[in-house]
Amino acid sequence: MENWDIQSIRRDFPALQQMVNGRPLIWLDNAATTHKPQCVIAAVANFYAKDNSNVHRGAHTLAKRATDAYEGAREKIQRFIGAESAEEIIFVRGATEAINLVAQSYGRMVVRPGDEIILSNLEHHANIVPWQQLCDEKGASLKVIPLNDNGEIILEEYTKLLNSKTRLVAISHVSNSLGTVVPIKVMIDMAHVLGVPVLVDGAQGIPHFKVDVKSLDVDFYAFSGHKLFGPTGIGILYAKKTLLESMPPWQGGGNMIKTVTFEQTTYNSPPNKFEAGTGHIAGAVGLGAAVDYLTRLGPEQVEIYEQKLMAYARNALSTIPQLRQVGTSAHKAGVLSFVIPGVSSERLGEYLDHQGIAVRVGHHCSQPSLRHFGLDSTIRSSLALYNTFTEIDQLVLAVEKYLC
Ligand code: PMP
Repeated sequence: MENWDIQSIRRDFPALQQMVNGRPLIWLDNAATTHKPQCVIAAVANFYAKDNSNVHRGAHTLAKRATDAYEGAREKIQRFIGAESAEEIIFVRGATEAINLVAQSYGRMVVRPGDEIILSNLEHHANIVPWQQLCDEKGASLKVIPLNDNGEIILEEYTKLLNSKTRLVAISHVSNSLGTVVPIKVMIDMAHVLGVPVLVDGAQGIPHFKVDVKSLDVDFYAFSGHKLFGPTGIGILYAKKTLLESMPPWQGGGNMIKTVTFEQTTYNSPPNKFEAGTGHIAGAVGLGAAVDYLTRLGPEQVEIYEQKLMAYARNALSTIPQLRQVGTSAHKAGVLSFVIPGVSSERLGEYLDHQGIAVRVGHHCSQPSLRHFGLDSTIRSSLALYNTFTEIDQLVLAVEKYLC
């Protein structure tokens, strides 16, 4: 930890150097999106400036460079998450698209009338709506694991929900509204006893700690590049190769085929089978650079630093008597949600913005998790590896100033 040079890390992020409303920007909206280090910006710019070409199809130098960069990024991501093969890494637009892909391909293949899909009460809408749509189409039903007062999944209730009708468990790694870290390894092992595969929505997990899909034995892992210091419009679906091989394609077009006649089409093997059309090549290259950056810092070091910051922030917020923290699990990452009874969250959010402090106010696309606490909105401050203890002090000071 001694070598965690926060000032040098912050210098890697040009967007953090700006003034907003006359104050140095304090970015506490990392659960919505993260800023990009210069190496990511440079990788994207360099791709467009020099290597720009479509991949695979061209027989010329730039096509080869673009293909190498694209497939190289896939291999970097494979190594970063500990997948066995680069064929298990599907490029998608983001976590939302990854989950829709699984629902529409794997889900449509296996779910029958009367079947059940297990979710939890802390999911983002992206990990609810695609399953609801699938259940409506198939005459299946959603089963929801309830939360306790700390915003944690009640494992005993999960055990009760798992049965021979369960076709899939779909859970977040970390809640984007409460910050709760979900004990996914235990939950995966429990599902596997019944032969049930598990999809983990890792959008808020992977930015905060090391994720190893092999040791987790997770079947599907979805995340977005833009929350991992990479570009928007690119994300990853990891899936075990055997599953990908068994799944039908979900979109048709170029790249995903082997042969096409008007009578019949044969499909490419994974990952191409699930990547119809031209992908976000520059985005993938940028995400590859983000993963290189994180590898240099060390995801384990990121976790140690952020956990210290999280503990400090929880303690600092608790010194404001009126403030109620929402989601009080001992095991949290990234997210600090709070409300102040009698105070408009929207107004406080605007005030903080005037002080250069970016937080988010609203339901954070996770209405059921807030409803559990009788709320329809919170103020969410969310941390990343470049935030500082001083920034937390400034947040607390600004809230105190608003209240007096
Ligand atoms: N799941 C979680 C837990 C999230 O926080 C988000 C983004 N807020 C998503 C899914 C969806 O990510 P995206 O919009 O990048 O597809």
